[in-house]
Parts: sequence; structure tokens; C-alpha cells
Amino acid sequence: MFPVLKLLLSSLFFRELPALSGNFWHITDLHWDPTYKPTNTPELVCASSGKRPAANAGDFGDYACDSPWHLINSSVYAMKEILPNPDFIVWTGDDTPHVSNEELGETAVLHIISNLTHIIQEVFPNTKVYSALGNHDYHPKSQLPAGPNYIYAQTAELWQDWLDLTSQGTFKKGGYYTEKLLNQTGFRVLVLNTNLYYDQNKLTVDMDDPADQFSWADQVLTEAATNKEKVYIIGHVPPGVFEKKRNKPWFTSKFNQRYLELIRKHHSVLLGQFFGHHHTDSFRMFYNSEGSPISVMFISPGVTPWKTTLPGVEDGANNPGIRVFEYDTQTLVVKDIVTYYLDLTRANAARGHWEKEYRLTESFRVTDASPASMHQVLERIANNRCYLQKYFELNSVSYDLTECNSDCRVDQVCAAREVDFNRYEHCLEKEGAAAIYGGLLQVLSVALSLALLIW
Ligand SMILES: [Zn+2]
Ligand SMILES: [Zn+2]
Repeated sequence: MFPVLKLLLSSLFFRELPALSGNFWHITDLHWDPTYKPTNTPELVCASSGKRPAANAGDFGDYACDSPWHLINSSVYAMKEILPNPDFIVWTGDDTPHVSNEELGETAVLHIISNLTHIIQEVFPNTKVYSALGNHDYHPKSQLPAGPNYIYAQTAELWQDWLDLTSQGTFKKGGYYTEKLLNQTGFRVLVLNTNLYYDQNKLTVDMDDPADQFSWADQVLTEAATNKEKVYIIGHVPPGVFEKKRNKPWFTSKFNQRYLELIRKHHSVLLGQFFGHHHTDSFRMFYNSEGSPISVMFISPGVTPWKTTLPGVEDGANNPGIRVFEYDTQTLVVKDIVTYYLDLTRANAARGHWEKEYRLTESFRVTDASPASMHQVLERIANNRCYLQKYFELNSVSYDLTECNSDCRVDQVCAAREVDFNRYEHCLEKEGAAAIYGGLLQVLSVALSLALLIW
């Protein structure tokens, strides 16, 4: 057979199918503390401990402190070792340490953003990074303005290799941008500045639509539907309530409502939302008015192990975590999530070794990470003690291995199930009552068996 004909036939019949599976890294909340230095005085190891003793300070850090450079370096090189050629990287901010505004300043904040940007660029020189601002990536912290300013402008310069020209424009104006995902027709990324909705942000609290971000996002998503695009949303501060502290929301109520409306209106083009800020490993479900799951927000664990000082949270530290998302490159459906972590205590004792913590589909026995599957995960957590305990341990990246009691169960389940504040309240009542009822039944059955024994 003529070679040309052979080639033609083989290309007709054995045409190589495009790879359906892709993957990307999500890293968040690196919180570099440049003052970290193990010393004999535990209170003086790092500024971010705020005089709390860092009793086990080692090269990789301490649970009372934000990340030393050694930990940052180790996490980025671990990414390179585990998955050297991801399709892209999602980086959702919070680069600076938890210290007072007086201990930082505009120059220090920019210096820290710059150092983290450079190490990511150095280790992944050819990888596209979708990068969002965190509430700690501004001076004064959390006071991100709804208009142009020096820090947005400087950060846009630092990230110029990752942002196209239009993105640089909207970023300088409001800290947000949109681009086609990896320049491909039919796929889009929306990077939001949800720090504008954070209830700690005094500059935006009285506004209706800070930096016109909601109307812009609405327009982008409407056009995405017209163009039959599939979209990922990326941001830092998530809507809804913190699972480690009952009734602790992040967004101002009106913005929480508006975000929820945005997702409900455009869910058909949305294939995933990727956020940080919690430092814990969690997720949020979005349902339509009939109660069907329509979207999921994945909240990835932080690199910093820093124990939160939020009053009411008992032991809010975590092990450093990084994660790979596996997705279908044709549909953008999230197929699986693999979380890697560093056991800080062990890392400090020996040489630090990042290892696989868990794979979602294996640990929760689901087929993928679609809204329907994540709804199944949530139902398992809500109704099965073993799944609840597993989820609770993973929530702190295998740091807090205590028992998740009935209050803990209600907090975890309602935070994941209800982003809407009112519905969250109802969930607390319903699940709380269910717990009391369950407890009563248990007491009654014990009493009955005792009575039968005596009788
Ligand atoms: Zn953070
Ligand atoms: Zn944050």
C-alpha cells in the first residue's frame, strides 16, 4: 500500500483521541512569616504567634506560627516533585503573616507578595497561574478598596506574566479579572476579589456593588452562556459560615445573598468554585429552589499551620496542605481531588516529607466531585459516624484527631449544606433537634435494656 494512503487511512480510523483528563494544583494561604526563627524562648520564635509559645519550633515551623521560608520552599518544591507539569496553578492568596498592621506596611506586604510570586515562577516557569488576592494581601489588612490603588497596580505588575492586557486593566481597577482558560475557546476562568464582601472591610460595607464586580461577573457569565462556555470561579474569602465556629460568617449579609443569587442564576455554566481563607479542608454546596445540587465550592487547606486566634475555636491549627484537582478537559467536571500534606511534628523531627493524605473518590466512595457526588459525600457525613469522623480529621489536614461530637457534627454539616444565613440557622435547629432526639432515644433504649435486665 502507498505510504500516503496508509497514513490517511490510519489517521481516519485510528485518530488519536484528545486526552480527556487534566490536572491542576490549588495552593492557598501560604502566610510567610519572615521573622520565624527557632530560639530558646518559645514566645519569641515568630511575630505571628503573638507571644503564644511556639513550643515545638523546628525548621518547618510551629503550629503557633505562620510559615517559615523553609516551609514555603518545601511546599512549592513538593508540588514540582509530585506533579511537575500541571495544566495550570490556582493560587488563592493570603501571603503575609498574622501580625498587626503596625508590624507590616505597604512595602512589606508587596515585598512578601513579590517573594512568593518569584518562587512559584522560578519553580513553574512555563505554567499559567490564576492568582487571586487574599484579605492579607493589602495594607491595612482586609481593607481592599473598590477602586484603583497602589497595591493593585503593583501586584498587577508582579503578575504581568500571568495576566493578559484586559485582565491587567480590571485587576488594577478592582482586583478581579476573567480570561479564557488556557486560551481555549469554550472554557473560562473568573478570578474574583471577594475581599470586597468581607465584613471586616470598612471601605465597602455601605456599598451596593463594590468595584461593580457583581454586575461585571453577571455580564461575563451571561456572555459565557451565550458562547456556550464552561467556567471556573476562583477567589479567596468564601461566602457562607465557618465550620469551626457556629454562626461565624465572612461576608456582609447583603453580599452573601447576592453571591448566592449569582451562582443560582448562572450555575449551568459553572463547573467549580475554588476558594481558600479557612486554612481548613472543606466544601460548600449550592442547591436550586427544588433542593437539587447545582454547584460546589471547594475550600482548600492552607500551607500555613497557624493556630487561629478566633475566639471560640479551641484548637484551630492544621497541617500544611496542597492539592491536585483532576478534571475532564472537555467538560471541566471535577473528577477527583488528591490532597497532599506535611505532618509538621514528624517533619520537624526528621526530614520533611510531603505525602498523600487522601483521594476524594477513595475515601468517600463517590465516582467524581460533581455537585451530585459532593451532595452524596455530605449525606454520608451527616448520617454516618465513620464518614463524619474521617471528614473531621481531614478538615484540619489530620491535625485534630479528637472525636467530632454532636455539636461538631451540626456545625460541619450545616456549614457545608447552607450558604444562605437563614437556611443555615434553620439547619442548626433541625440538626440540633435531631441530635437531641437521637441522644434521647439512646438514653431511653439504655434505660429500657437496664429495666429489662432488672426485671
Ligand atoms: Zn489565610
Ligand atoms: Zn484570608
